Amino acid sequence: MNSKIWLSSPHVEDKELDYVNQAFLDNWIAPVGPHIFDFEYAIEDYLEGSNFVTALNSGTASIHVALKLLGVKQNDIVLCQSFTFVATANPITYLGATPVFVDSESETWNMCPKYLEEAIKECIRVNKKPKAIIFVDLYGMPAKIDEILQIGSFYNIPVIEDAAEALGSEYKKQKCGTFGDFSIFSFNGNKIITTSGGGAIVSRNKKDKEKVLFYATQAKEVAVHYQHEEVGYNYRLSNVCAAIGKGQMEVLDKRITQRRFNHSFYQKLFKDNNDIYVFKSVNTDFNSNYWLTCILVSTEASYTNLDLIAYLTIHNIEARPLWKPLHLQPVFQNNLYFGSQVSAGLYNQGVCLPSGSNLSPENRLFIAEVFAKFFKQYSNV
Ligand SMILES: *Cc1c(COP(=O)(O)O)cnc(C)c1O
Repeated sequence: MNSKIWLSSPHVEDKELDYVNQAFLDNWIAPVGPHIFDFEYAIEDYLEGSNFVTALNSGTASIHVALKLLGVKQNDIVLCQSFTFVATANPITYLGATPVFVDSESETWNMCPKYLEEAIKECIRVNKKPKAIIFVDLYGMPAKIDEILQIGSFYNIPVIEDAAEALGSEYKKQKCGTFGDFSIFSFNGNKIITTSGGGAIVSRNKKDKEKVLFYATQAKEVAVHYQHEEVGYNYRLSNVCAAIGKGQMEVLDKRITQRRFNHSFYQKLFKDNNDIYVFKSVNTDFNSNYWLTCILVSTEASYTNLDLIAYLTIHNIEARPLWKPLHLQPVFQNNLYFGSQVSAGLYNQGVCLPSGSNLSPENRLFIAEVFAKFFKQYSNV
């Protein structure tokens, strides 16, 4: 049996280990230390413009703090993209607020501006003006960001960009992670770069960064004794993890090139196959990092997305359905949803394919062979 081909596995080398060793030598084995600042500067430098990065211990924590800074409280409503990983919505509930879900449009698979506005109008009509909007750049694909930000600003509702999967992607030549009031990144093991576990919140000014730090380190007031006037969290990234991140930032562009290469590999693989559509940018405004390559299986095909996933799985190739929309998740079954089941349709047809930056030429060859066998089997029935 071949060794397992993963969807997106960590890809680290000697440089990361050197920095981790440095952390050990300096005894900065703590959620403070020089690697944290270096990692934050590296991201700020990469993003360009007026952005202030605070490294936290997860993407989820970053969303939690962003919502907190926007004043989200008990019984508030937050509008949230339905088609995403559950971590986008969970922090809304940590604050006692309620997510109301918005469907995707079919071009970027992200928050549909039309349904976003419909949801806002309906919430305002029942006297529950939303406190914030969270949209996602899913699978690395930038959302229709101008439209979403215009709606947010027209109704005076702050916007959070969940760019957990989109480090290195660009919308109209501007880096994802720089839009809205706050953006967040994740450095979980499966993301485009990893710190083993980690995240970051990107703010647009220094004052907001100071507030992020305040809440992420137990809301400790300036005083020699430990003075606390508000509830805070213990969310800072460890210096050991930041050491990994610092090394990863040095190879980020290479990693993105490798992910995009996988995407073009799959486009070539399926170019004569009318049953498979490879998800891609509709135009050059949307420059995806192609964190994961996703395909849709035509409803006319003689097999389903689940048949394909099962076949890949028995050949030790990891493949998964697309994110199950949150409005279809039992945990959110009582939450309002605005849309026309675009995301549900994608979920029913979609497959995420192995997309790691560490896929080898042999891995790609094997994947191509397994697909060929699969299609042969279905063309004989
Ligand atoms: C991974 C991810 C998160 C959460 O990040 P963690 O670091 O795992 O907490 C949030 N949103 C999206 C879209 C993600 O893919």
